[in-house]
Amino acid sequence: MPNATSYQLFINGRWRAGGDGIILPVINPATEKVCGSVAAAMVSDLDEALASAERSRRAWSSRPAKERGEFLVAAGRILATKVGDAAKDLSREQGKTIAEATGEYARAVETLEWNGTHAEELSASIPMGPNRMIVPEPLGVVAAFTPWNYPAVLIARKLAPALAAGCPVILKGAEETPSAAVHCVEALRQAGIPDGVINLVFGVPVQISRHLLSSPIVKVVTFTGSTEVGKQLAKLAANNLQRCILELGGHSPVVVCEDADLAKAIPAISEYKFECAGQSCNAPSRILVARPIYEEFLSRMTEVARKIKIGPPNDPATEMGPMANERRIEAIQRLVNDAVDRGATIETGGTRLNQPGFYWPPTVLTGVPKDAKVLHDEPFGPILTVAPFDTIEEAIEEANATDYGLAAYLFTGTDDTKRALIGGLSAGALSVNYLKGVSADAPYGGVKQSGYGYEGGEQGVRSFQSLKLVNGLGS
Ligand code: NAD
Repeated sequence: MPNATSYQLFINGRWRAGGDGIILPVINPATEKVCGSVAAAMVSDLDEALASAERSRRAWSSRPAKERGEFLVAAGRILATKVGDAAKDLSREQGKTIAEATGEYARAVETLEWNGTHAEELSASIPMGPNRMIVPEPLGVVAAFTPWNYPAVLIARKLAPALAAGCPVILKGAEETPSAAVHCVEALRQAGIPDGVINLVFGVPVQISRHLLSSPIVKVVTFTGSTEVGKQLAKLAANNLQRCILELGGHSPVVVCEDADLAKAIPAISEYKFECAGQSCNAPSRILVARPIYEEFLSRMTEVARKIKIGPPNDPATEMGPMANERRIEAIQRLVNDAVDRGATIETGGTRLNQPGFYWPPTVLTGVPKDAKVLHDEPFGPILTVAPFDTIEEAIEEANATDYGLAAYLFTGTDDTKRALIGGLSAGALSVNYLKGVSADAPYGGVKQSGYGYEGGEQGVRSFQSLKLVNGLGS
């Protein structure tokens, strides 16, 4: 691997610069200073990646799935030994704390290992009575696009199931946070994965996706990012009917019922909301609270948010680091200004910290009118709205009043209320009295404008397979 802060492309089993030597700067969000560089791919590099992935396809897909899985398990073990340094790199480029980055890498390792362990079982034929069976087959070369918020675990959630299923991958890592892609791919290289099975490129996202998706070599497109870009990729993929797995934006409600245990709910909401400075697709962002406990909830939630220690992500005392880039600061400022202009109240936070770095404090807004942008656009930052509700029906209606449908959360001890909310909330995933990240063994995907397709668990591997139905076996 080239020196630690000058990241390269990985094509056909070799780390190298882009064809015309162009590099892009990597910015440390805590200082706003350049902290590294990343090579940009040109068209000839992409063509080489396509050709090398296609050359490796037949051998990789016909290799016993157990062996494919062993590469993943080995890569997971190798990555686990590098977490100390890799987490520091991630924290420097992304702004999340070292503890958050370490936790993210642990989930990336778990994901590689889970898919490696289950590769054989999920590639096996599935009998359907005495005369029929289903034969899962790898779909072919995958183009994977991953973002900067959770660049290690989101890469693992795409690479591991695709490779387990027998598909070679061309990964476009996030230019803002290249080290995670480099560490994950290097772990696979050290595990001995054959040349061409995994290729890593960076560059100008729109140019890379246009070029890769215009190639008939690519059979599957998997993307995590904004709904807007997801739609652009779905349109490009339509030309070659490439299968798409789109994990897009979210605007997750939390319904806090009158009987909720606030001592449990408030720290759980705070921890999950402000992790990664609120830049998680499934972070809670709209809190709906039963009116009898609204005032108490608001004052306790605001107090907890106000006390969160903001600082450099490499300081062990820091609880929340900076936002990842200037674009996020500008977007959050626009949402706050719009809400306030329409009559909302800022309970805490509400303006950028006056110091170098992309620091924005935890922000709680109340009295937000229904037409405010913050209730409709994905906030993707440390900003929460809190509003009271009178009936469960009203809470469900409010919770569902966005175009997104990724995650939803509820706090109650009553079974009937749980049933009503589980049935009523439009979300790909619903968590009761609990807020945690996605796990390696379970399917996760959105509804409405949050995307389609699944990552994680058995369905995550099936996303990269066709299911060939074989009839008349006993004939
Ligand atoms: P963005 O959609 O422009 O970029 C998100 C990621 O997609 C980046 O890694 C980028 O490199 C990549 N990308 C952008 N355009 C692309 C293209 N044409 N082809 C292929 N890849 C492309 O957004 P952003 O400004 O970086 O972040 C802002 C918004 O993105 C947020 O508001 C949020 O909605 C969304 N986002 C969502 C997630 C998620 O986990 N679902 C992650 C990151 C960003």
